[in-house]
Amino acid sequence: MRKPIIAGNWKMNKTAEEAHAFIEAVKNEVPSEDKVESVIGASALYLEKMAADTKDSDLKIAAQNCYFEDEGAFTGEVSPKALGEMELDYVIIGHSERREYFHETDEDVNKKAHAIFRNGMLPIICCGETLEQREAGETNEWVKGQVTNALKDMTEGQVMNAVIAYEPIWAIGTGKSSSAEEANQTCGVIRDTLKDLYGQGVADAVRIQYGGSVKPANIAEYMAQEHIDGALVGGASIEPDSFLALLEAVNK
Ligand code: 13P
Repeated sequence: MRKPIIAGNWKMNKTAEEAHAFIEAVKNEVPSEDKVESVIGASALYLEKMAADTKDSDLKIAAQNCYFEDEGAFTGEVSPKALGEMELDYVIIGHSERREYFHETDEDVNKKAHAIFRNGMLPIICCGETLEQREAGETNEWVKGQVTNALKDMTEGQVMNAVIAYEPIWAIGTGKSSSAEEANQTCGVIRDTLKDLYGQGVADAVRIQYGGSVKPANIAEYMAQEHIDGALVGGASIEPDSFLALLEAVNK
């Protein structure tokens, strides 16, 4: 049985004060981590305080990106070693916004995933197709390639603990969510890819999230699907009430 994992991705939103107020409102209200994992991905600026403030709660904290070297002459980058020292649980990598606006490649995503494991955290690896790719019937091959490249040279143990987030780009922030059946079909392709690469045991263990216009009103439909084990949520993770409503819908 794969444990559900609901992760909020705040993207570049919230002031320090707003982030703090959210954590205070939510940290003691999330479900027990034995039943559902609750994660918030925030700006690197707030992570240290958020991690310290949630130390005794079941809410986990994620970075939204990191570099793949631990330290050195990389002006402006976020060190995975520093994130590991904060005892963060997860780092989101390969988000389509990072791929599109900051030119992150599959090779970068793979190097970042290795750096994240090396520093004691787990990656949430994003993948997903554009509308043009979907309409051209290229979704399955594209996503299969992204996942295969992201996991290059990883051990079975690492892959089993990685989280994969399938986010069709056309469904992000558009209000136009993929149907639950459509999302499940592509998440099934991801699971088949894991099986081909690492065998049935690993494929059965990996948690796959759907992301793209997930809300309290539609999350249950996604969670009811065979291959969907959680959600990566942007807009509906910003307000405490909405984030808690997502968790409540899953923790039934
Ligand atoms: P929305 O939930 O706002 O569509 O964003 C999805 C997303 O990109 C999460 O990473």
